[in-house]
Amino acid sequence: MAFDLLFKGVTIVTMDDDCPELKNAYLGIEGRKITWLSTEAPTEPATRTIENSHLVLMPGLYNTHTHLGMSVLRGYADEYTLDVWLNEHIWPAEAKLSREAVGAATALSVAEAIASGTVSFTDMYFFMPDLAELCLKAGCMANLTNGPMCFGPVYDKENDRAWREITTLHRDYHNADGRIKADVGIHGEYTSNPAVWELVAGYAGEHRLNIHVHLSETKKEHEECLARHGLTPAAVLAKHGVFDNRTTAAHCVWVSDEDMDILKDKGVTAVHDPGSNLKLASGVQRTHTLLERGVNVSLATDSACAINTNDLFFELKLAAILHKGVDLEPTRLPAAQVLKMATKNGAFSQGREAESGVLKVGMDADLIAVDMDKPHLIPCHSVVSNLVYAARGSDVCMTLCKGRVLYEQGEWKTLDIERIKYDMIHTALPCLKG
Ligand SMILES: [Zn+2]
Repeated sequence: MAFDLLFKGVTIVTMDDDCPELKNAYLGIEGRKITWLSTEAPTEPATRTIENSHLVLMPGLYNTHTHLGMSVLRGYADEYTLDVWLNEHIWPAEAKLSREAVGAATALSVAEAIASGTVSFTDMYFFMPDLAELCLKAGCMANLTNGPMCFGPVYDKENDRAWREITTLHRDYHNADGRIKADVGIHGEYTSNPAVWELVAGYAGEHRLNIHVHLSETKKEHEECLARHGLTPAAVLAKHGVFDNRTTAAHCVWVSDEDMDILKDKGVTAVHDPGSNLKLASGVQRTHTLLERGVNVSLATDSACAINTNDLFFELKLAAILHKGVDLEPTRLPAAQVLKMATKNGAFSQGREAESGVLKVGMDADLIAVDMDKPHLIPCHSVVSNLVYAARGSDVCMTLCKGRVLYEQGEWKTLDIERIKYDMIHTALPCLKG
């Protein structure tokens, strides 16, 4: 027996409650698994050894609400409210995007995210079987769905591309290579109807799939739902059985206290997208209250059109400082809690908590190495503090998923970055002009 890769003399932030942090430690990987994690040196040999006291290893990041194909619209329509942004800018632009354009944009987003420490996405967009293929090639994990929209009383699933993509993902890609999961999507309460919710709830229940939905993102959405149904978005979706399945609910900015109890009771994950919610002036999620009430909260960027980046380190810092200022309370969302949102809580939201999200012997080697030998990361009174308040995505020097190195020291090991950049400029961008 030999390790495929052995880290030596490193600091390890495990995110495991029993053993949070190890200094001058060893982490060994065999195949897809972590098989050694200790301050004791192993006796087994290693095919490759990395000895570097400046490295911090931690679980790879989970970006639990994305629209990766929207990087083609990065900087395309800034500074609008969500409804004007969607109706007048984003949806008309998206109607022009070809399959190849979305493919180029998703590849660029995945490359950007892998290089800044993300190992898994929860994505809702179009041409999702293509994204499944891309993620298998890139080596990352992803929970994927298309989010059906329906503005009439009846949902014609046979003629809806979104539903066809959901069933194709389920049939052809669910659990592929242990990396891909097919989710079932609902774009949002305000863009669909009870027929969609019940179909989605039933399909997810029958096949034991997760659900991904936008929930109470804006005050307008929340209040119009109350007027339409006499219930909040959370209450109406719960009434129609949606939350009887493991659900990832993006945003949850305007959820009421009663809604929080529903999310807690049903085990729904509330995704915190602080950058997107601030830039689109949607508001600030009451994250502290959600956590205090026992709701699983994970972290996300949302699209690179909403917040112009796929770098989750930006959101780590933003989440950690935002609530201190808004609540006038410096103990809000401590750095360790925010790291947990981006790792362990994200793995739970995707249904991957049994094999990923913490560093521990027996877990999958889904991890990143951060190079702390940088001027802005010295000194290091607290590793967790430096990771959240001082580090940037560009400090990630290595990203591994299932034991496979996806990115190392500026090199993408599974993707052709020059081709991806070329395709964005020469394939994706021209679509917008058509
Ligand atoms: Zn979204």
